[in-house]
Amino acid sequence: MDDTYQVIVVGGGFAGMTAAKELGLKGIRVLLIDANNYHQFQPLLYQVATAQIGVSAIARPLRSVFRRIRGVRVLTAEVTAIDSATRTVTTADGSTYRARILVIAAGAVPNFFNTPGADEYAYPLYSVTDATRLGTGLTHLLDEADREPAGSVDVVVIGAGPTGVETAGALAENVKYVVPKYFSPVLAARCRVHLVDMVPNVLNAFSPKSQEYTRNRLGKLGVQLHLGVGVTGVRADGVTLADGTVIPGRIVVWAGGLKAGKVIAESGLTQGRGGRIDVRPDLTAPDAEGVYVLGDAANMTDSTGAKLPQLGSVAQQSGKWAARNIYADLTGGTRQPFGYWDKGYMAMVGRGAAVAEIGRRRVQLQGPLAFVSWLGVHLALLPGFQQKVRALFSWAIGYVTHSPAQVVVGRPE
Ligand SMILES: Cc1cc2nc3c(=O)[nH]c(=O)nc-3n(C[C@H](O)[C@H](O)[C@H](O)COP(=O)(O)OP(=O)(O)OC[C@H]3O[C@@H](n4cnc5c(N)ncnc54)[C@H](O)[C@@H]3O)c2cc1C
Repeated sequence: MDDTYQVIVVGGGFAGMTAAKELGLKGIRVLLIDANNYHQFQPLLYQVATAQIGVSAIARPLRSVFRRIRGVRVLTAEVTAIDSATRTVTTADGSTYRARILVIAAGAVPNFFNTPGADEYAYPLYSVTDATRLGTGLTHLLDEADREPAGSVDVVVIGAGPTGVETAGALAENVKYVVPKYFSPVLAARCRVHLVDMVPNVLNAFSPKSQEYTRNRLGKLGVQLHLGVGVTGVRADGVTLADGTVIPGRIVVWAGGLKAGKVIAESGLTQGRGGRIDVRPDLTAPDAEGVYVLGDAANMTDSTGAKLPQLGSVAQQSGKWAARNIYADLTGGTRQPFGYWDKGYMAMVGRGAAVAEIGRRRVQLQGPLAFVSWLGVHLALLPGFQQKVRALFSWAIGYVTHSPAQVVVGRPE
């Protein structure tokens, strides 16, 4: 048992990385454990899957993030068990670590809502591994279709939230610009992108104006919308809908929802909606002493009691706020309830097009201005200077040449 650390942070995503950084800068001894040795920037996973940017633009080694923060030790290990009562974590090799304060920031996993076949056939999009696997699948689908004399080449995206909309838009743009250039206009004419959601709107959390803009843009790109009808099954050759329709799809992308991962389910903490932990306003878990749960692993509320969505900005701010409260715990101060600064939402709908609803007042932007804001915000959020330069360079190449900035290698499983 290693208990030399004041704080253990499980998960080096937006929430855990920010918490560890803030604590380390205050001189607190922190052990940051992540199954991967890198931080991954999920908002741009769909661009990795569609060859717009490379992995090294969205993943940053955690040890590089903390190389100048001496108090933080990065440990690459999968946490297999969390005992919240004793604030002890066990890793896959059987080692155990205990600290005075435990921060659980282990994110989420795809929620297939028990949809038959989804687990087996759908491609989730939650990690770098998911994105490269999908990119490989898409590349090989085109190579395969190119060898065939005829027949449609369908890709189905399930879930018309920001992830689904951005993915469907990027796929449709590849069909419009890349497939005719690299393969043939004949093959491009055989390709179809479908976007499915049980809700009758795209981007359900956005305003009707943004929804209408998005529908129009997706329509212009040729995305076929199937809204207001749920998916009842995923098969090797497509999806079935509740009204009996079968949409053919050689690749099905799951952007349909998230839930807390297994390690949280078995932590001894009471789970709420989505399997997440309903934390107190100060971000501590209600049924264990000295345990904080942050980001996508938690159901958090703002100062008015409104539920906060699973967003990068929420996770990042929760990490920063928790660090202040933890510092107060360790130095005899008083914890403060989480004060979330609502920056709003945005989603890219293809080249030069996006929707943004900025700030608590939801100032609405559509089109090129929203697109530029989207680029600026994502560039600012990327986790390191090199990542920012790589992303900017890839975007510029893609924009000017209408070509993928990356080469996809590997073979489908
Ligand atoms: C495809 C996609 C697009 C998105 N787009 C946007 C967007 O445009 N804007 C926005 O604001 N938000 C967006 N989000 C949401 C945002 O990315 C998440 O809300 C945010 O990443 C949550 O941060 P987190 O730190 O809670 O979890 P994560 O970032 O998921 O980090 C969790 C970390 O925990 C580690 N981990 C998990 N289990 C274990 C274990 N057992 N042992 C060790 N380590 C473990 C993981 O490896 C990971 O590094 C998007 C999410 C996805 C999936």
